[in-house]
Amino acid sequence: MKAALFEGLEKLVVKEMPLAECGPGDIIIKIYACGICGGDIRNYYNGLRHGIKSQVIGHEFSGVVHEVGSEVKGYEVGDRIAAAPDVSCGECYYCKRGWVNLCNDHKMIGTHWPGGFAEYIHIPALVISRGFIHHIPEGVSLEAACLSEPASSVIAGLERAQFGLGDSILILGDGPIGCLHIEAARALGAAKIIISGNLRRLESLEKFHPDFIIDASSEDVPSRVRELTKGLGVDLAICANPVVATQEQAVQSVRKRGRVVLFGGVPKTAPITQLNSNSIHYNELEVVGAFSYETRHHLKALEAIRTKALSPELYFTKTVSLDDINEGFKSARTGKALKILVKP
Ligand SMILES: [Zn+2]
Ligand SMILES: [Zn+2]
Repeated sequence: MKAALFEGLEKLVVKEMPLAECGPGDIIIKIYACGICGGDIRNYYNGLRHGIKSQVIGHEFSGVVHEVGSEVKGYEVGDRIAAAPDVSCGECYYCKRGWVNLCNDHKMIGTHWPGGFAEYIHIPALVISRGFIHHIPEGVSLEAACLSEPASSVIAGLERAQFGLGDSILILGDGPIGCLHIEAARALGAAKIIISGNLRRLESLEKFHPDFIIDASSEDVPSRVRELTKGLGVDLAICANPVVATQEQAVQSVRKRGRVVLFGGVPKTAPITQLNSNSIHYNELEVVGAFSYETRHHLKALEAIRTKALSPELYFTKTVSLDDINEGFKSARTGKALKILVKP
């Protein structure tokens, strides 16, 4: 089969590769499409986790079951599948509490196992039992299902922030994750949705109809937020980008007892942030992290796509073939397309 193999920094090579045999507990999926994620771009430029040197990457995929091992229950040839990459151990302190995203032995498809930038993917028994290999609900296309993975983490982050009816939100970051926050916040009953960013993709951003857009390159984000909220500040600010500097903007933009969620990971080389601790202290702010998701969030994401609370067609603005995957990575990085699908 054809697959895109990460062979080192900025080296993604499309080549013929053997597909692992389908063992008695395994399944093989014929890939329909796989989205390029911010995480893939990070890996492309910084390398894979755990010192893994080479791997078929890609984890936001959908496809159709092609082969089923003799002992597998619940999957049949022809079933439509959407996947998320995380695999937990099921045994550690965190797994026992159901916090599988925090598993001490957290592994990922596309890092520890070959991923979705390929014609086929082999899903071993362990990944079926401890991962997120879910059936696509009726009425959701294979293409739309590719949005379920990034949407899962957004749904989990807003749940962790206890965001709800009548709340106001500032989203810092105008990439696909920022746009997903607009849609998810609206579906949860947001009263006011403000998004800030450098607006490289202003045109696509406007399609999501946030209440207010702030150009962070020319405006002071916290003072603009105060203007838009009668001096109060927002209930919740989400840092949906990999930029440390916006974290302080978030702290300065929330009301007293407001929440700040650090959603986006920042470069490993410079993770230290500067926050005004007196603002946190006197205003009783909560600053929390949000990372990945649990099983229910992926299922909720698929349902949110089915009920059209999320609009996959607004995200997938460019499709490339597997052969042109390097071009796809470049477009994703320059922000020309909101989200890119790779179709084998
Ligand atoms: Zn992803
Ligand atoms: Zn675990």
